[in-house]
Amino acid sequence: MKCPKCGGQMNFEEFVNVACEGAPWSYEGWRCVYCGEIVDSLILLNRKEARELETVSVGKARGKR
Ligand SMILES: [Zn+2]
Repeated sequence: MKCPKCGGQMNFEEFVNVACEGAPWSYEGWRCVYCGEIVDSLILLNRKEARELETVSVGKARGKR
């Protein structure tokens, strides 16, 4: 995995937030060792969904009208 910002090496890490009492969360992602850029699976998923939503809306518009 290479950093999208600087192209540096990224380390796979698990981020855990226990400060939120009652609703702890954790996720896995990559953190750049050079600039600190974080790319996690949620961000990747959101980007993927955004692309899919765009595709779907185009398909609907074409299909119904
Ligand atoms: Zn970087």
